[in-house]
Amino acid sequence: MLPSLLSLSLLSVLSFVSAYKELSNSSLSAIPFPAQDFDINNGAIMAPILQVRVAGTPGIEKVRHHFVNYFAQHLPKWELTWENSTQPTILGKEVDFANLIFRRDPPWVKPGHVERLALVAHYDSKMEPDGFIGAIDSAAPCAMMIHAARSIDEALTKKWDEQQKSGKYDHLTAHGIELYFLDGEEAFKSWTHTDSIYGARSLAQTLERSVNPAMSTYRNGLEQISLFLLLDLLGASVPTIPSYFPTTHWAYMHMSNVEKRLRTMRRLKSSPNHSNNRAKGMRKVKEPMFMSDTKKDTHNAYWMGGQIEDDHIPFIQRGVPVLHIIPGAFPSVWHTILDDGQHLDNPTTEDWAVIVAGFSAEWMELEGYMPKQAAQPRSTPKVEDSLEENEWELDNELPQHDEL
Ligand SMILES: [Zn+2]
Repeated sequence: MLPSLLSLSLLSVLSFVSAYKELSNSSLSAIPFPAQDFDINNGAIMAPILQVRVAGTPGIEKVRHHFVNYFAQHLPKWELTWENSTQPTILGKEVDFANLIFRRDPPWVKPGHVERLALVAHYDSKMEPDGFIGAIDSAAPCAMMIHAARSIDEALTKKWDEQQKSGKYDHLTAHGIELYFLDGEEAFKSWTHTDSIYGARSLAQTLERSVNPAMSTYRNGLEQISLFLLLDLLGASVPTIPSYFPTTHWAYMHMSNVEKRLRTMRRLKSSPNHSNNRAKGMRKVKEPMFMSDTKKDTHNAYWMGGQIEDDHIPFIQRGVPVLHIIPGAFPSVWHTILDDGQHLDNPTTEDWAVIVAGFSAEWMELEGYMPKQAAQPRSTPKVEDSLEENEWELDNELPQHDEL
């Protein structure tokens, strides 16, 4: 019977598609830092997000324009989709919410045959206290996502052009990437199931209902999310990020390994051992890892997943794999007027942007297509000079990359 033949061929194709490939040291260390573009006063990416942007107000409209303009000008290949909703709120009036989705898919993709890595952050700010900016919550994570997108944009084009020319690609399963900028995460009054995550609830429902054509590899928009990577409350110094879910611990391990390798190469600006932070001749100190929760036993460990309510809830409830990058102990400025640009730790914010870019490049298997030589941040040692393995002790023992 024809259907059984078809499903056999489908199985044989699917068995070798989903993979993750580490970048070489030269590709990883060449990922540029956001530098001036993350300047809180005039940085092209960061500064326009650092304003009051409560859902349904002119402030958030300006930030939407910033995203749209930035992508139109610098990343025109990322296709924009809007997911809009009008919802009753605790304020006693309806509010318009708008989620923005920027996507890049391989050019040969057919609808329903592509899965995507979703980088996610919310872009609204909390209504109270008056004048609240929400720099870690979540202006900085939005900026990190944009930096990740632009760091891999050229490599995606190169890889897909080459694959298309050679005809060497899988017709049934393609891998794309998307950024979700979600509206209405914050409660207008105080957090309840109905007064919070307005945008995420609407988007999860819309994706679930967007059923793909018959014979698609993925049944609906939700199934097309290979990983929902949610960034929240990032940009304060010395963060500690637990691994929240056993089902995505493997992805946590990969991201932690990206961080560890960048540390070993002395790339991370927040590191006490970075040449910016260490006087000549001073002894190297222990590296503090952002993501050190790597020794968990997936069967017996204590998992905090589910204890933090955030934009992932309506997605995880529908079976989407979630990697939640949020500190286990919230930064002290959280939901206070002090959560503004001045209280961001710039080196930490830049480091996160590079870690997220490195992880995205590995997820998209871009080794061989990434630029090899980025402008080195001033006073960062050349990679060859910095590979003194085990020169200092790391907090954890991740598997060594074969090139280290
Ligand atoms: Zn918040």
